[in-house]
Amino acid sequence: MHSYCINKLLNLKEVKVKNIVHADTFAKIFIQTLPREQKCPCCGNATKRIHDYRTQTIKDLPFQEKNCYLVLKKRRYRCSCGKRFFEKYDFLARYQQRSVRLTHSIAEQLRDSVSLKYVAKRTNVSTNTVSRILDTINYSCPSLKDTVAIDEFKGNADTGKYQCILVNPKQHTVMDILPDRTQSHLSEYFRGIDRSQRNRVKFFICDMWQPYVDIAHAYFPNAQVIIDKYHFIRQVTWAIENVRKRLQKTMPVSLRKYYKRSHKLILTRYDKLKDKNKDACDLMLHYNDDLRKAHMLKEWFYRICQNPKYAIQRTEFYEWIKNAECCGMKEFEKCATTYRHWSKYILNAFKYGLTNGITEGFNNKIKVIKRISYGIRNFKRLRTRILHSCN
Ligand SMILES: [Zn+2]
Repeated sequence: MHSYCINKLLNLKEVKVKNIVHADTFAKIFIQTLPREQKCPCCGNATKRIHDYRTQTIKDLPFQEKNCYLVLKKRRYRCSCGKRFFEKYDFLARYQQRSVRLTHSIAEQLRDSVSLKYVAKRTNVSTNTVSRILDTINYSCPSLKDTVAIDEFKGNADTGKYQCILVNPKQHTVMDILPDRTQSHLSEYFRGIDRSQRNRVKFFICDMWQPYVDIAHAYFPNAQVIIDKYHFIRQVTWAIENVRKRLQKTMPVSLRKYYKRSHKLILTRYDKLKDKNKDACDLMLHYNDDLRKAHMLKEWFYRICQNPKYAIQRTEFYEWIKNAECCGMKEFEKCATTYRHWSKYILNAFKYGLTNGITEGFNNKIKVIKRISYGIRNFKRLRTRILHSCN
């Protein structure tokens, strides 16, 4: 009964525990298997003849917060053909010095936002071993669904400064990480995806980066291109911020500080401000014609975004552009030019109500991964870690 419980506690099938030794920092568990008839790997005949024993020390999952070693009495058989061979064990892969379940545990721990060094320390292996295990994890891009969203992040990998993240916004999953956002890399990547799969895509969400749109037209003939809401609204935010900064420079230092601290008042939707903040905002706009105009344009644009009727959004959007184009503020004129250039695809955002909002969460996770891994340069590893931890 006792040995039955100990075996159960160890949780390795067909293994007998012979002894357990505890030291301060480690535990050693001495194990052995029962002899069994074996099939010779050379001639295929069955044999029961034991040749000799060797002892192997195997790293296993930590036990009671101590490093744990399995000391295995490995049995060698001899076949009538002359071949000598070791027993095979389910819990030990060939040529490995650690148990299969330790390898699995390391792979699982790599899903967390922790460094390779940290995993190595926790599992009593070298950082190199953890890297090698990371390299055996393989992700391929799942088949495309009707919506594809693409965005970039500054990964600084050995393949380029910016990497792309391909997302399924409806399923909230990261589909793939691409080595670089240049036209040639993107073409190469999407060319590799089966045409029938690409034809299935009805919506392609991206930001205002021309290669994305070119790619969408070339490889997704049935897709509507949609500019992600966050990316085009940001243009208005930048415009009003730049107006504020320009005006600030002409102000006395005492006032300047006040405006800098109050930039949130200007950016927040007026309706959402508390009454006392509304007063502060009013006061600020009262003394600045440009800022007042900029604020009006910003508020107007937000209202367009929230209007539930597409036909009205469309009309108002073009009205807005016309107004901004001749508002006399170069910041908003620039924004209007951008909007006119991308108008068709921005309107699609209103029309279909699809965004790439979930990518922001993934991008935050990527930042953490990059920080804890001291900026992974190796693109393949960066990709694996992202896919491994985001899905
Ligand atoms: Zn044989």
